[in-house]
Amino acid sequence: ATEPNIPDLSAVDSAPKLPEGTPMVLFDQVVKQFGSNIVLDHLDFSVAQGERVTLIGPSGSGKTTILRLLMTLEKVNGGVVYVEGEPLSHMKRGNQLVPANERYLRTVRKKIGMVFQQFNLFPNMKVLENVTEAPIHVLGLSKDEAVERAKQLLDLVGLGDRVNQHPTSLSGGQQQRVAIARALAMQPDVLLLDEVTSALDPELVADVLNVLRDIAQTTTITMLIVTHEMQFARDVSNRILMFDKGRIVEEGPPDKIFSNPENERTQTFLRAVL
Ligand code: ADP
Repeated sequence: ATEPNIPDLSAVDSAPKLPEGTPMVLFDQVVKQFGSNIVLDHLDFSVAQGERVTLIGPSGSGKTTILRLLMTLEKVNGGVVYVEGEPLSHMKRGNQLVPANERYLRTVRKKIGMVFQQFNLFPNMKVLENVTEAPIHVLGLSKDEAVERAKQLLDLVGLGDRVNQHPTSLSGGQQQRVAIARALAMQPDVLLLDEVTSALDPELVADVLNVLRDIAQTTTITMLIVTHEMQFARDVSNRILMFDKGRIVEEGPPDKIFSNPENERTQTFLRAVL
């Protein structure tokens, strides 16, 4: 018999075997600009497999842009983004890297799951269909397989009894938990969380964060997180990256960054948010 209260995460954990030393995510000299506004200026950082990294910093420092580059919703202006050692922003042509085309992006995008601030559920579909849609149409799962996986994940996020409802009949917190189940149903190797509680009423935040804590504690999925919930960041992250104006000004384990920040801009930022 399985133990009670330990979620079954077999539908979530599908971590690839990467060669020793290959980062899950690598930004190599990445430049991103909007017009003349240079948002990321030759940014270098990497995230190891299974690591959970939270990006903090003032509004406009480039955090969301980093997630959007990983989601291939934005294109780099310089440098290369790699996932699992393979280029994401580019594709290989012989020994050269050339900008990725749509067909290539459709393949590499499957490695990445994202949960957005505004849930972005399909309003015309039931909860269950929201979660089975992409596994069926993008991964090619049979309907039965996709339904089984979706039910397992909806149970995990505490919504097993809501499968036949429409998202609009759910609270914001419940909708966001559906969105988490939907992202996990694709068995992404990297999960991106972009201010996932910012649009929620305060009393709904805890349920969403608790689901994410469970996932963080019981799976090996790599996570990149942007959040204003500093206690949550402290609880789930292995490492904090403090951004200012598109650069990492300080990084380290959460205890160090939150209790004993060295950089003056980190100190100022944390004084304002804590
Ligand atoms: P953060 O997530 O840290 O608040 P963002 O990555 O959202 O920062 O934004 C970084 C900078 O990029 C800001 O100056 C913002 O105005 C600019 N920016 C982001 N997206 C766009 C866009 N689509 N068009 C023009 N400027 C943008």
